[in-house]
Amino acid sequence: MKIYLASGNAHKAAELGTLAAASGVAVSIHSAREVGGMPAVDEDTGTFIGNARKKAVALLPLLPPGAWALADDSGVCVDALDGGPGVESAYFAGPQGDARANLLKLRDAMRGVPAELRGAKFYCLLLLRGPAGEEFVFEGACTGRLLEEPKGGSGFGYDPLFVPDGFAESYAELGDEVKNRISHRAHAWTALAAWLKGRPLDNGRPVES
Ligand code: IMP
Repeated sequence: MKIYLASGNAHKAAELGTLAAASGVAVSIHSAREVGGMPAVDEDTGTFIGNARKKAVALLPLLPPGAWALADDSGVCVDALDGGPGVESAYFAGPQGDARANLLKLRDAMRGVPAELRGAKFYCLLLLRGPAGEEFVFEGACTGRLLEEPKGGSGFGYDPLFVPDGFAESYAELGDEVKNRISHRAHAWTALAAWLKGRPLDNGRPVES
């Protein structure tokens, strides 16, 4: 089974590629770059699943026959902000989608919020869409809390502000190896991998596993 990542976010694609390689599923993961790049999509549905579907639908016509599209829609949901920025995480500080501006806006929005009210979770929805429009959805979450100031240099997006439960360091301090074991994306991928292992089909043909 050939799966193309419906994402222009190189960090997400790299994480999903690493997760796929480590999970031993009989699929080959490809970048949207191989088919000319991820088409621009307005993430305007207000839901993770709606946005993910738009990305997968936009990419599918570019794919070789029989290939599937995998879209990731994700975000950070902050208790003190009633679950925001959530589905708007990529555009929290404006339509230009500036990751640094988003991070600083979240830091500022949480200024003065006491430790016991700094809970947050990262959420990831993976939507796998097939050539005939079949769709399968997998979810993952990682709960934790937000720091007062960003810390750490790895990862992307809001990673330097988020400390997952059970750790003292931010996602950006823990590094890729730990993040890829515990993250929202890792949990969603684990669900997808389990589904793939139970459904070894390649356009109707069994695949080697
Ligand atoms: P979207 O799924 O394209 O709407 O973008 C998700 C946004 O959520 C990203 O641009 C980041 O701001 C944030 N995000 C999602 N996953 C992560 C993560 O693993 N680390 C840090 N930020 C993330």
